[in-house]
Amino acid sequence: MLYLPTRIFMGSSALSQARQYIRNLGKKALIVTGKSSALKSGVMAELLPLLSEEGIAHSVFAQVRENPDLGSVMAGKDQLLCTGCDFIIAIGGGSPLDAAKAISLAAANMLSEDQLYDETLRKKSYSIVAIPTTHGTGSEVTQYSVLTNTKTKIKAGFGSDLIFPRLAIVDARYMRSLSSTVSLNTSMDALSHLLEGIYSTNRQPLLFPLIARGIGLIVQNLALCLKEPDNLPAREALAQASLFGGIAIAHTSTTLQHAIGYPFTTEFGVPHGLANAMFLKQIMKLYTPAIKPELSLLFDKIGMSQDEFMAWLDGFPIGLKVDLNGIDLEAWMAQILSSRNIQISPVIPTADELRDIIKSVQKV
Ligand code: NAP
Ligand code: ZN
Repeated sequence: MLYLPTRIFMGSSALSQARQYIRNLGKKALIVTGKSSALKSGVMAELLPLLSEEGIAHSVFAQVRENPDLGSVMAGKDQLLCTGCDFIIAIGGGSPLDAAKAISLAAANMLSEDQLYDETLRKKSYSIVAIPTTHGTGSEVTQYSVLTNTKTKIKAGFGSDLIFPRLAIVDARYMRSLSSTVSLNTSMDALSHLLEGIYSTNRQPLLFPLIARGIGLIVQNLALCLKEPDNLPAREALAQASLFGGIAIAHTSTTLQHAIGYPFTTEFGVPHGLANAMFLKQIMKLYTPAIKPELSLLFDKIGMSQDEFMAWLDGFPIGLKVDLNGIDLEAWMAQILSSRNIQISPVIPTADELRDIIKSVQKV
C-alpha cells in the first residue's frame, strides 16, 4: 500500500505552480526557518512578493538550529499562537522542516514539550507548506519529525499522518548556495534513505524503481555537483533523489542505519548525513546476507556491482573517526537497540556485532 497526501511541485516554476494551492491554506503564514537558509537560498525573495500579492500576511520564526530541540518547537508554537497565524511555511533543510511539523502539532493541540511524543493527544494540525533548501532529508514528503531532547541528550523521531506537508515545493535553484560539505552530507542522507527503503522489512516492491532511480541519480551526479556547485541539472538530480528517498522512508521508515548515527550527532555534533555516511558500508555488510536478492536486483538496475558501489563511496571524505574513549558504549548500545528503527532492520545485530560496528569509527 502506498500513501502520500502531499502535493508535490518540482522544478524552477514549482513555487508559481503551487500558488493557487497556497492561496487556499490561510490568511497568515508562520514562516519557520533557520538562521539564514531562507535568505541565502533565494526562497524569501520569491515567496514574500507572492504572499503579498495574494494578501497573505506572515510572521517569521527564524530560530530553528541544526538538529532542532524541543525548546525551539515550544517557542515556535508560542509565536504561531500569539501572532494569529493559520498555516505554516517551512523553509530550509530537514531541521526547519521537522521543527515546523512539531510546531504545527504542538500549537493545534496545545501540547507541552512532554506531550509531543504522545500520539493519543494529536487530534489536528496546521497545514504545512515545505520548501526544502537541502537535498537530503526528503522531509518535505514524510510524516516524521526528528527532535533532540537537550535534557536527556536523546535524538528521536515520531511520525503522524497529520504532519505530512500539504504542499512540497522542490526547486533545485534554492540549493545552489549549499556549501560542498552540506551538499555531500545531505546527499549521503538521501542515499541512506533510499537504501533503507530496500533494507527495511516494510519494503514495498512498488517503490523499487523509484529507489533504484534515486540511487543512480546520486551515483551519476554527486561528484559533478561537488565540483560544479552551480550545475543546475546535477542539483536537480540530487533534489529528485532526495525526494525519492523521502517517499521511500515515508513507507518503510528507517533502520539501524539511522539509529546508530543519532548518538554521534548528539554527543559529537556530527551532521546527520555524515553520521549515516560513516556507517554506510558497515551496515550494508551486516545486512547483505539477509537481503541478497533485493541487493542484486538493485545493483543490476543501477548498472554497477556492490563492490563497485563500495569503491565509489570510498571516493568521498566520509570516513570520519571520533574519540570514543570516555563514552559509555553499553548505554549507547542499549539506546540504539531499543529504538523503534531496530525492529524493522533485516538483521538485528548482536551486542558484539553492534559494538564492533561502533568501534570501527574509533580514532586511533
Ligand atoms: P539542516 O540541519 O537543516 O541544515 C544544515 C545547514 O545547512 C544549516 O547550517 C543550514 O543553515 C544550511 N543550509 C540549508 N539550506 C541552505 C542553503 N540553500 N544555502 C546555504 N546554507 C543552507 O540539514 P539537513 O541535513 O537538511 O537536516 C538534518 C535534520 O533533518 C536532522 O535533524 C535529521 O535528523 C532530520 N531528518 C529528518 C527526516 C524526516 O523525514 N523528517 C529525515 C532525515 C533527516 P540555517 O541554519 O540557516 O538553516
Ligand atoms: Zn536521514
